[in-house]
Amino acid sequence: MAATRIVYRIFAGSKPKTVVEKIKIPELKDGEILGKILAATICGSDLHTLTGKRIEANPSVLGHEGVIEIVENKRGGSLLGKGDRATFHIADCCKKCILCKSGVEQKCKKLFKYGHTQIGHRSTELSGCYASHIILLPGTHVVKLPDNIPNKIAAPLNCALATMVNAISYSNPSMKSSALVQGAGLLGLYGCVLLKEKGFDKVYCSEVNTARLSLVEHFGGIPIGPTYPTKLEDESVDLVVEVCGVPSVFKEGIRVLRPGGVYALVGMVHPNSKLDITAEQIIRKCITITGVHNYSSKHLDEAVELLSRTIDKYPFSKLLSPSYALSQFDDAVEEALSQSYLRVVIEAAQE
Ligand SMILES: [Zn+2]
Ligand SMILES: [Zn+2]
Repeated sequence: MAATRIVYRIFAGSKPKTVVEKIKIPELKDGEILGKILAATICGSDLHTLTGKRIEANPSVLGHEGVIEIVENKRGGSLLGKGDRATFHIADCCKKCILCKSGVEQKCKKLFKYGHTQIGHRSTELSGCYASHIILLPGTHVVKLPDNIPNKIAAPLNCALATMVNAISYSNPSMKSSALVQGAGLLGLYGCVLLKEKGFDKVYCSEVNTARLSLVEHFGGIPIGPTYPTKLEDESVDLVVEVCGVPSVFKEGIRVLRPGGVYALVGMVHPNSKLDITAEQIIRKCITITGVHNYSSKHLDEAVELLSRTIDKYPFSKLLSPSYALSQFDDAVEEALSQSYLRVVIEAAQE
């Protein structure tokens, strides 16, 4: 059986390029799963790589947000059969090392990240979502999708939504009066939904981009920014979640956080993220500041459950572009760079 893959390559003296390749699908080993990619979305991190802002191992098959249909499953006793639709953890881990056992399996000592691995040996030939097929390794958590979640809406679940499930898990269960989400990109809007569904009374969401801000109310949030109240009056917010990637918002987050509150940092995953704070501010307010990078298997399970339960309650399709075919990959990237949609979708043709 043959597969098509979009390969990202760096050529000396020029920007990264993508090349379409056809390959023979390698024979599966025990524990592996072959999936047909039904839908994939273009993440901001992929755009950084494709535009040369971030250098990834190459050649590689990019793309880590996706939904599969099981073509072949070599996991004994698995509940997933041929034809089932599924989402999967963005990384494979050993489940044995100290990091896996202590709840941060996304930092496993033997971590293998889909969409980030150089092609070079069998298990990396189909290791990204910008392809017709993907091979999932034995340590990858795979979750069957309920029938009510459409492919394209499920695609970003295994990156943005599961990460936000992890971020919000740091909230103090006895403090649910209000929260502030800083940034109304995909993570921020998912954050509004998650906090609302978790029982937070008021979920504020601050954003400078007016188009994004206009989506906030549709996802259960109270907008803070241009054309809305620009500053939060509430100074007793229980939880602040930063997803905008801008260090200057930190000061405001600390100001509104109430004593005993939690501040989860998610978006500032870049070196230009020096924070303006004294230890005294942290100590006197008795606050917890935590970093959240990716997620563990249990967060993926929760993300699937949440999406299935709320699929008719929030307009998730508003976050996504019309679908592009894999053969239109370059057009899809152009669309993603124009930022008209929070995620651009690449979808397999219906058979
Ligand atoms: Zn992503
Ligand atoms: Zn491990």
